Amino acid sequence: MTWDLDKLLQNSGSLCFCGKKHSCDLKEVIVKPQALAELPDAVRRSGGSRVFIIADRNTFQAAGETVCARLEEAGIGHKCFVFPDQELKLNNTAVGEVILNFDQSCDMILAVGSGTIGDLSKLAASVAKRPLVTVATAPSMDGFASATSSVILNGTKVSLASCAPVAIVADLDILCAAPFSLLQAGIGDMLAKYISICEWRISSLVTGEYYCEEIASLMRAAVEDCVAQAEGLRDRRPEAVETVFKSLVMSGMAMSFAGLSRPASGVEHYFAHLWDMRALEFATPVQHHGIQCGVATLFSLKIYDLIKKITPDRTRALAYVESFSLEDWNRQLTEFLGVSAKALIEREKSEGKYERKGHGQRLERIMHSWGQILQIISEELPKEEDLRQVLRTMELPLTPQEIGMTSEEVKDTFLATKDIRDKYIASMLVWDLGVIESIAADFQSAL
Ligand SMILES: [Zn+2]
Ligand SMILES: [Zn+2]
Repeated sequence: MTWDLDKLLQNSGSLCFCGKKHSCDLKEVIVKPQALAELPDAVRRSGGSRVFIIADRNTFQAAGETVCARLEEAGIGHKCFVFPDQELKLNNTAVGEVILNFDQSCDMILAVGSGTIGDLSKLAASVAKRPLVTVATAPSMDGFASATSSVILNGTKVSLASCAPVAIVADLDILCAAPFSLLQAGIGDMLAKYISICEWRISSLVTGEYYCEEIASLMRAAVEDCVAQAEGLRDRRPEAVETVFKSLVMSGMAMSFAGLSRPASGVEHYFAHLWDMRALEFATPVQHHGIQCGVATLFSLKIYDLIKKITPDRTRALAYVESFSLEDWNRQLTEFLGVSAKALIEREKSEGKYERKGHGQRLERIMHSWGQILQIISEELPKEEDLRQVLRTMELPLTPQEIGMTSEEVKDTFLATKDIRDKYIASMLVWDLGVIESIAADFQSAL
């Protein structure tokens, strides 16, 4: 690996070239075979004397029993809350159950799991005002170290502020034995970073958004390390699994460092969010978050290939935006997303990204820096064939059909990505240029 996680943790809080102090709440990460033997010490170092364990059936089986045994041997009291669900969903009910069952005599929350259990425990720790230690069971997503949780609140998927763990302990033997779909998801969530960094740079040019080259170069190194380890990951080799896991942890730290999700998510993540939202509404098929991000990274690459062929035209862009009807678009968005479109339509009222004035300013910057934008795309994005190779190695999906969708649904998803959050991404760039319709049509044919 070309970067050092422990060094990053030590340097947390120091001043960066970008002018920001980069810090995160995470203090230590232990990743090694038999790491659970070190869990009691990590718990004590983080101030825990009696812990409330949150797990589900699968994660309890993978690591929970050993965790309880190690804590008992060390004389650390604990109370377990194990969800019986086969497929736990992080919704009002799950959050309520944990809060109602929380044992007030516990001074720490211990998450045993990744993904849903991790997000739920971060939320519980934040509500109960207790420090959190996470025992990871799979290298499946990059939310370990971040201070947000993805939750289904009243039927819609939202991202809520929660709290990051102070320590993460991961037994490499357990990570290596995780279900293959979770290893696929882990590398998929890392591949997304190609697009995230590219769009972060473009946004800083077009909107003047804050950007940190130190963080971006860390992310570049991490994604390259993961790509180089794809075959090892497929074969469950410990050094490959360790690299991917550490890269995922570091992505969460990078988001805390930057104070925004830019280093780790761009338009490809919005494809995934939209598919999750549609699944809640219309029961359309969904895969693990990272698997969706992996295939969406390939789709995003196709969009950037089309963007490279655009010749910006001020008159065309202004005419398009002049004729754009927000009312018509909101209707289309509601048809595509159902009830959850409401929140996006509401948000636009305060964001005003479709307003003429903001568009005019962005367009001028795009016209002025088009050469630089093309340069960024060529510097940051891999060749489609190279990305396909990694996806194939990890047996990840490559087409809409493989994720149970039509090319039209994927095209419609692209059109809706610009409405998810106030973040400048590929779909906003082509809207600003007045070519979103033609790009979307060409994108659909290229799928
Ligand atoms: Zn910085
Ligand atoms: Zn992600």
